[in-house]
Parts: sequence; C-alpha cells; structure tokens
Amino acid sequence: MSASHTAQSWIESANGHPDFPLQNLPFGVFSPPGDSARGGVAIGDYIFDLKTACEAGLFHGAAHQAALAASGDSLNAFFAAGATARRTLRDALIALLSEGCGEQKRMESLGARLLKPQAACRLHLPAKVGDYTDFYVGIHHAQNVGKLFRPDNPLLPNYKYVPIGYHGRASTIVPSGTEVRRPNGQTLPAGVDVPVFGPCARMDLELELGIWIGQGNEQGKAIPIAGAAGHIAGFCLLNDWSARDVQAWEYQPLGPFLSKSFATTISPWVVTAEALEPFRTAQPARPEGDPQPLPYLFDEADQQHGALDIELEVLLLTPRMRHEHQAAERIALSNTLNMYWTVAQMVAHHSVNGCRLQPGDLFGSGTLSGETPDSFASLLELTTGGKQPVVLSNGEERRFLEDGDEIILRARCRRDGYPSIGFGECRGRILPAH
Ligand code: CA
Repeated sequence: MSASHTAQSWIESANGHPDFPLQNLPFGVFSPPGDSARGGVAIGDYIFDLKTACEAGLFHGAAHQAALAASGDSLNAFFAAGATARRTLRDALIALLSEGCGEQKRMESLGARLLKPQAACRLHLPAKVGDYTDFYVGIHHAQNVGKLFRPDNPLLPNYKYVPIGYHGRASTIVPSGTEVRRPNGQTLPAGVDVPVFGPCARMDLELELGIWIGQGNEQGKAIPIAGAAGHIAGFCLLNDWSARDVQAWEYQPLGPFLSKSFATTISPWVVTAEALEPFRTAQPARPEGDPQPLPYLFDEADQQHGALDIELEVLLLTPRMRHEHQAAERIALSNTLNMYWTVAQMVAHHSVNGCRLQPGDLFGSGTLSGETPDSFASLLELTTGGKQPVVLSNGEERRFLEDGDEIILRARCRRDGYPSIGFGECRGRILPAH
C-alpha cells in the first residue's frame, strides 16, 4: 500500500515538506542528543523514533516484529526480513501518522520521546555494509569519459551487453556530513616518466544512485530479474569521491583501486521502493542498432516499469561562498533515467554467477550524467578533463575540487498531482591532505 496522494499527516511540517511528506517515510539510524543510536523514520522536520514507538506498544503483530528489527543501531536485520515485513511496517506507519489517527493523542503525549527534531539528531550509516559494488550504468558518463581517452571509440564493445561494475571498498563509506580527507597517492604528472607521491591534485565527485540490498541469496543461486525487487531494500544518494590523477596512473589493467577507496559518502535515509512506486516508468528505449540484452538480463515487465524518474542535483559550496554567506550553487542537474541498465538488471547480473548478496550490501549505479553539459555529473566531464574550468556566479573557477570545497547531492521525485518526495542531502567537505 502507499499513502494516497492526497493523504495528510497530523504532523504539520510533513504536509508540503519538500523531502519527507507522509508519502515518503524513509528509514534510517540516528542518535538523539545524548542518547544511543536507534532506528527511525523521517516525517516532516521530525524523526519518528521506532524504539520509543515499540516500547509504547504502538505496533501490533507482524508490524511490531518489523519495527523491532528496524529499531536497533543498524537496519541489517530489517533488510533481512524482506519486502513483506517492510510493507507491513510502512502500512502501520502510514496509519499512525495520517490525519485522524485514533492514537494521535497518545503519540502527542509521548512528545519528544517519540518525535525528535531532525536538526538536533545525528544521522548514521543506516546499515553495516558488507560489500559495496560500483556499477557503471550511466551511459552518457561512460561515453564522455571514454571520449577523453578514445575519441573514436568511446564505448568498449562489452558495454551494451554487460552491466559493468567492480568491487569497491565498504570500510570507508561514510554518512552525509562526514569530512573527507584529500588522499595522497602516486600520480604520473604530464611530461615525466616516473611517478611522484603526494596529495591528489585532481579531486572529483561522482553523482550516483545508491541501492541497498535487502534479503540475500544462497551462494550458487542466481536471482532472476523478475525476482530482483524482493532483494532491494531501498535507495540513497551516493558520492563516489575520485582521485582522478591517481586513477589515471593506476587503473590499468584491473580498474580503480586507491583512487576510489579512500571515501564514499551516502545520504543516510533509505527511500523505499514503495515510496518510489509513483515515480516508476518505462526503461528508455535503447538507441537503434543496440543489441538486445541476453535473456537473463531481459524481462518485459522490468522494461515497462523498471526505471526510476528521479531528478538529481549536484551543488558546490566553496570556502569563499561560505564566508560570504552565499548559497551552494548548482553545477549539474541530471536524472536516474540516464541509466542504461535497470536496478533489477544490475541485481540479476551481479548474482548470475552465484555470487552471494547479503542484507546491507550497497550498489552504486555509476555516475549518472545526462546528455548535455549542464547535466554532467563529475568535474572530469564538466571541465573536459580539467581543460575548461567551471565558472561560478561569483567569478570563482574550478577544474577540480579544492580544500574546503563542499559537494551536496540532492534528489527529488515529481509527478503532477502527487506530493514530491526527496532523499535528504548527501554532503561532504574536503579537508587538506595529511
Ligand atoms: Ca563510480
């Protein structure tokens, strides 16, 4: 069930809230001031405290079991409980938080024990990430980056057959707001023959959709594309920080390594498939002449309904802008419709060899650039490999990120006649190298 498009909450700040109306209800893990981490749900300007709600007996039966699983200091047990448990809890939350709920007075009497102001709370990673996989399904990004290296042949021949990906580093995934240290590494500056060691000089961001895995699969047993939805717990924003100069020197023949593993920032709220259901749409048609996916990667229903229409935004806040009290400036506006493969195709491909996915695994989509320069979702593309700087409205220029720069990712789903929902921020500021 989803909340009807006209349903309102008795929590007034939820009604018309740009990110967290009643129709969203994302899950997360947070610490109230001076208290321990626990699960919660974003509603308007508040976090609904699932631990307090369970203790107060607000849920019953299967919804109570699901709420208990979601009320601890990580959501892994809740993710493992699967889609049915998640939907049962969501339905109970919609009933509790809707206008006219019979329990409203009792919930109001719990006051700040139940509803914590978001601004006063600290958001954590929502789950312990076992494995992190970064895909490369943003076809315009793949083309743009390929063009920088191979102008005549930007896409390698496997791209339209294989959802390309590599195994990333789980231990350095951090929640929004965590500062990111500029890495040191080996690079090969132009015109020299031997590498030097020092701070990364070409620090970049990548705007990606994050996909949380829910129920896992047995090792050796592939997840069919039609069953993929049962293994997806939800979605977040993901910034795959990238040290381009390190990457350029190290990436052959096995792909990125230290250029990516120093930090990945995610937005802390898990936006569910149920909340995104109104923003599902058909997968954009493949350009004429592109091959048909192999049978294990093709499902008619997935093609009809498996894409997501989510507006994605990258903003930059420089130290000077911060000092002069200017707002962050948008440097790219893109959309999840720039994915060449659907999320279900990614899950099917990842598991087709028998690889075991586990609750709390995280996928990155790959950089989701659009076709036009105002939608390029990395500085590598926005500046054509550092050749043309981005010029900000205050006259500042950036080829790559400087110390003190802050990157903010945002996402919004819009549909006529339906409340828009958002993801909350994915924010990180660059600290100087050690
Ligand atoms: Ca990436």
